[in-house]
Amino acid sequence: MIYHSTRDIENTVSFKEAVIKGLASDGGLFVPESIEKLSKEFFDNIEDMSVVDLATEVMKPYVGDEIPETELKNILEEVLSFDFPLVEVDENKFALELFHGPTLAFKDVGAGFLARCLGYFSDKNRKVTVLVATSGDTGSAVANGFYGVEGTEVVILYPSGKVSASQEKQLTTYGGNITALEVDGTFDDCQAMVKQAFQDSELNNHLNLSSANSINVARFIPQALYYFIALGKFMKGDKDIFVSVPSGNFGNILAGIYAKNMGLKVDKFIVSNNVNNPVVEYLNGDDFRTRPSIHTVSNAMDIGAPSNFERLQFLYPELSDLKEVVEGYSYSDEETLESIEDIYKRTSYLPDPHGAVAYLGLTEAMKSSDNAVGVFVETAHPAKFIETFTEEQKSKLGVPERLSKFMDKEKVSIKMDNTFGSFKEYLLSR
Ligand SMILES: *Cc1c(COP(=O)(O)O)cnc(C)c1O
Repeated sequence: MIYHSTRDIENTVSFKEAVIKGLASDGGLFVPESIEKLSKEFFDNIEDMSVVDLATEVMKPYVGDEIPETELKNILEEVLSFDFPLVEVDENKFALELFHGPTLAFKDVGAGFLARCLGYFSDKNRKVTVLVATSGDTGSAVANGFYGVEGTEVVILYPSGKVSASQEKQLTTYGGNITALEVDGTFDDCQAMVKQAFQDSELNNHLNLSSANSINVARFIPQALYYFIALGKFMKGDKDIFVSVPSGNFGNILAGIYAKNMGLKVDKFIVSNNVNNPVVEYLNGDDFRTRPSIHTVSNAMDIGAPSNFERLQFLYPELSDLKEVVEGYSYSDEETLESIEDIYKRTSYLPDPHGAVAYLGLTEAMKSSDNAVGVFVETAHPAKFIETFTEEQKSKLGVPERLSKFMDKEKVSIKMDNTFGSFKEYLLSR
């Protein structure tokens, strides 16, 4: 598969180059040259295939012959080693729980796949320095995915005071080849610092830089797998399928939209946002305007300049075409907390704040159909956001051992201001 930049279709690279470089040299994002429909046979068998066989079929065209099929299978087997259950919460409304992986957020699949691809491609003589900005969960998933992977060093940038306590512990306590930079600023500042690093020739001469944000194709495309694994069973039904995704950088929902373009039956994707909602505004006919992010209880979505918007717009340059596939809603913290309480009271299911936002979006969207099945994506385990819950809700929450074990470890971070100059100086000193 050939990949090219969203800003210039002549600017092409192989899968391997796209994975190592992360970002195109012109500042655009890499996208595959084409998204082909999977075969009828594939969809006929989708319910009977093993998860790994299914995943291999989906990923093969995007990896091409750059990783041999047996190796690709091994990678996918390691990465998809946990469940992706659909839990019926209300009649015809299901939570798609993507938090059963090692760091309890959906990013484990993408981060694990990327880490293993980079490990496979890495030149043993020249270490790759992986830069990653995180609004909370990316950092821990990347740290977990890369921890101990030979030939890689990881530098995580996170906004000081703007991630939850358990998220912070998960990204500052690994040590080894993982370093956490605690930035006095917002997630957008962290993301801008990382993006600028890729454009800086002095830095690129000094270090072999790669990116682990969802701008990297090896992180973003495997996320399409959740939708094939969970929704294949709806292929044969006659109901409208609505899928609501709590979105920040729009990697997860875009991968879902890719799955639809590969032939998976989803009638509508719903962008569910907190008050950081430039894409929702765009869907409603306004200009796309990025802006500084605002801190909310669904902090993984506190993104005022979502990077995958560029890919979304590349896929659907016309707003009217995009609106055939996607609609969007946004909610305040007050509405989010009410939603948690409402779902919990009625159903005794306790969603995390991101899932609660997605539930609200799903409920709104489903009003337009009387023959629909709805799925809202639970992107993280609620225990990662324990501070948002009432005492009663907390008592219902079991904190999984793989989360609680981080809480006793000591945080180690390097404090930094939010200027590129400081970041560059730090990287040059490594
Ligand atoms: C990362 C994250 C999101 C946003 O996902 P995107 O792919 O960036 O849109 C939503 N919820 C949680 C819990 C996350 O960690």
